[in-house]
Parts: sequence; C-alpha cells; structure tokens
Amino acid sequence: MYPTRIHRGAANQRGFFVATLARAWETSATPLLAFVLAATLAGQTARAETPRPDTPQPDTLMAGVAKVDITDREAGPVNDPLYVKAIVLKSDTETAVLVSVDAVAIGEIGRISNDYLPTVRTRLQQELGIAPANVLINASHCHGVVCADVDEKTVQAVTQATKNMVPVKIGAGVGHEDRIMENRRLKLKSGKEADVRHAYSLPPDEEVAEVGPVDPQIGILRLDRLDGRTLAVVYNFACHPIQGVPSGGNTADIIGFASKVIEENLSDDTLALFLQGCGGDINPVTYKAVEHPRSAEPLGNLLGLSTLRAVRKIECQADQRLTVRSETLALPRGDRTERIHQLEIEQQRLLQSLKGTSLNLKTFLPLVVKYNLSEEFPSYYSHRYLHDEKLGRDDLRKLDSENRRNMKAYIQNIHTMEALTRVQANLSLLRKHQRAMVDSGKRTVDVELAAMRIGDFVLTTFPGELTVQIGLNIKQQSPHPQTFVAGYTNGYIYYAPTAEQLQNVGGAQEDSDCILAPQWQSIYETKVAAMLENL
Ligand SMILES: [Zn+2]
Repeated sequence: MYPTRIHRGAANQRGFFVATLARAWETSATPLLAFVLAATLAGQTARAETPRPDTPQPDTLMAGVAKVDITDREAGPVNDPLYVKAIVLKSDTETAVLVSVDAVAIGEIGRISNDYLPTVRTRLQQELGIAPANVLINASHCHGVVCADVDEKTVQAVTQATKNMVPVKIGAGVGHEDRIMENRRLKLKSGKEADVRHAYSLPPDEEVAEVGPVDPQIGILRLDRLDGRTLAVVYNFACHPIQGVPSGGNTADIIGFASKVIEENLSDDTLALFLQGCGGDINPVTYKAVEHPRSAEPLGNLLGLSTLRAVRKIECQADQRLTVRSETLALPRGDRTERIHQLEIEQQRLLQSLKGTSLNLKTFLPLVVKYNLSEEFPSYYSHRYLHDEKLGRDDLRKLDSENRRNMKAYIQNIHTMEALTRVQANLSLLRKHQRAMVDSGKRTVDVELAAMRIGDFVLTTFPGELTVQIGLNIKQQSPHPQTFVAGYTNGYIYYAPTAEQLQNVGGAQEDSDCILAPQWQSIYETKVAAMLENL
C-alpha cells in the first residue's frame, strides 16, 4: 500500500555510489575530496536506517496539510491574506479533517452561506470518501472578507492535504498568554452588565464594579514528521480577533499574525491551524483605544510567540488514537417577549428623562475645559473675582453656579443618550431573534456537537460563540487533562452565554445576540460531559 520499495532502492543506490567513490579514492588525483564525498554519503547511508519521513511506521498516524488563499481581492485593499487551512488525519480505522477558515462564522452571518457546510461535506464524502461528521470546520471569527467561492477553495485545501499524507508523531501541550485579551463584559454597580463594543458607548467609569474572567490557556497539538520536522501546529485560544489594522485593509487579524509567527519559526512548510475557543465575551486589549491606531499585529505576535514557546516543549510520539464523535442536541430557545416589553419601557423612560439646558455642544465644550482648568476662578482672572468681593458683589460666582448647573444637566443628557445607544442596539438584536423564533415555529434549536481525540489532544466543539466561563467549566470537569473547546464550529447559532449572563438579556451583546433560554447551559454541559466520558 505504501511506496516503501522506492526508499529501499534509494538506499541501495547510495551504497553503490559509496563503493564507486571508495574505488575512485584509490586511483584519484584528489583523494581528499573523494574521501569527504565518500564519508558524507556513507553517513547518509547510515541515516537511511532510521525511518524516512514518508515511510509509514506501526502505530503512527498519517497526516496531510494544505492551505488555500480565500481573500476577496475585489473587496478593497488587503493588509494580509485570509486562508482556509486543512489537516487530514488518518489512522488504521478512522479519517478525520480539521479545517480552519479565516471568516466570521460558518453560515448565518458574514460571507459564508448556510449551504457552505453541507456542500463541502457532501463533496468531501463523494470525492474523498470522508464521513461528513468527521469534518470539523472552525471559523477563526476574524471579520475579514472572504471570496465568494470559499466552498470550492475549502474542498481544494482538503483534497490537496489528502495528497500530501505522511506518517507523523504527535504530542499535546498547553501554552499561556494573558497579555492580549480582556473580558469585555462589565459588571455594573446596579447589578446589570454592559459590554465593550464599538457599536455603542461604554457606561461611565464610576458605574463599573467588576470585570469577568479570561482563559489564558493555549491548547496545542503538534504533529511532527518522523525526521523531526514539524508538519503542523493546531492551536486553540479564546479571543475575538477583531482588533483590525491601522491601514483598515482586509485582515485575518490576530490569528493571521500569530499563525505567521508560528509558521515562519518552525520547519519550512509548517502549517499553523487555529481553532477559535470560547471567545464570546473576550476582546483584544485596548479595543476602544482612540489615542493610537489599533493594530492586531503586536497582539498576534505575542500569541504566536507564546504558542511557539509551548510547542518547543512538546515531545511527539507515535500515537494512533484518532476518534470523532458527533451528536445533535436540541437546545431551548429563549422567548424574549417580556424582556422586549421592559426594554421598550426603559427606552421611553430614558427619552423622557432628557432635559433642556441652555447649552449646546459648542458652548459646553469650552466651559468644560475652563471649569476643569481653574476650579476657583473659571470665568476670568482671579483679580476680577477679588475685586467683586471687595465691592460686595458676587456676579461671577452666580454665573459659575449657573454654568455648573447647566454643564451637569448637559452631561446627564449625554449619559442618557449613551444609555439609549446601548438599549437600542440590544433591543434590535432581541427583536430580530424573537421574529426569527416566531417565524421558525419552533421552540428549540438543533446544534451539532463534536468530540474528538487525537492522541492526548481532546477537543469538543460547538456551533456558536460560547462565553469563556463555559470553556473553563468544560475543561475543569473533563476527565482528560488536555481538553480544549472550540466554539464557532460546524455552524453558527450566535452567542451562547451562561445562564447567569442570560439574566441580563438586553444589557449586552452576548445576552441579546442570543437565541437560547438559560436552561441551555446545563443541558449542554451535561451532554458534553457524557461525550467526553465516552471518548
Ligand atoms: Zn463575536
């Protein structure tokens, strides 16, 4: 089945050349050169006893990798390319495919349509005989623009990977990175939660009481050829790759840069394949910065270097364990009728609380500067205040109190306006999902879950934006030490926050851009625990 004879032939051929050169040495005018050549080739003959990289060994997995550019070059300037990347894995009994797409989601939103996944899977089954459930496709969740024929390109990548299969040794490990991301949900003193988006203004600093957790773990699978060259690195991390680049061009964001660092610092053609984790409520740091151009590049470089640091510590070994389990689970949809009603009342209350003041933006801004520069004498030089005081007048003091009253009212109006931007953005998300639920005539949504083992590397997937606590829970409860969680895989059902976060429906994106009822979390976590138990 494998071309072992060719390599034995090659070794024999080298043996012939060594003998010929040795004879040449006896008669040659340049014996030293002949000696060096003979010694070099003899060394190669000796090394040929150890397995060549493309010779299968007992108990090794076979793996092939490929990547195809999926950047939409018509969509405007390109900062860095977007890719679909594929790893095909094969044991004696199982074939599985891991695909990573530099796109926002697998269906539902963005450029990738809902028929992408079934189309790709059907073709891979027909053309390569790969079972549909064994094809796992993860969206990195970068917000780049992919080409229209991304399905064709995906099939191309997988097909190419099947043509490059080599035996591999594998190993799993964990890296650490906590400098590039932050939890984007803000716990407010009111007990509610808000989140950090460009879609609306943040609440005032003094209203913020606490922030949520992050998951600094980088889950890593390393695949080495038998000669030690690294074929691929699979890495899993939880963070929205949405920092953007100063040029504003199309970009694979943090993930594009991280993968580049990994690929350029290992073997010549190493493939770095990223699997987005439970990044639902995780943002890049300084996401709202306005003092400097925001750039994904330094963040991606840090993630890439931290991944490399861990990759180098992983020892690969022959390990044929390859298992994929897939199940469909019905999750309850949330009925937001009551919450929409409450938010509409809140919207009206906020609107009616706007109060008229004498100021507008043009008069307000210089006053803010003056009253912050000189609290005691904001309206003129101090001598004028002292002069008034001497004559028993307080005209300037009266003016100052009136201005302060107006400024306070104006600021209050601004905060109300900012609160309205949050209410309206989240209200429209709730209305959209409520309408979709009514139209669907169903109170549940079916999700495809997968659990996969590649040696010690255990992966479970979900088709939505799991928030970070869910991932931390699954990892903590798993019987397997190297368990990692990929959201954004094999479909897209929007955000999937915890039951606790769903108490806050209408307050933040993760709980508003969500179709699930709070009970979903325990149903899901129970199911995943059972799948991991049986893996
Ligand atoms: Zn998102």
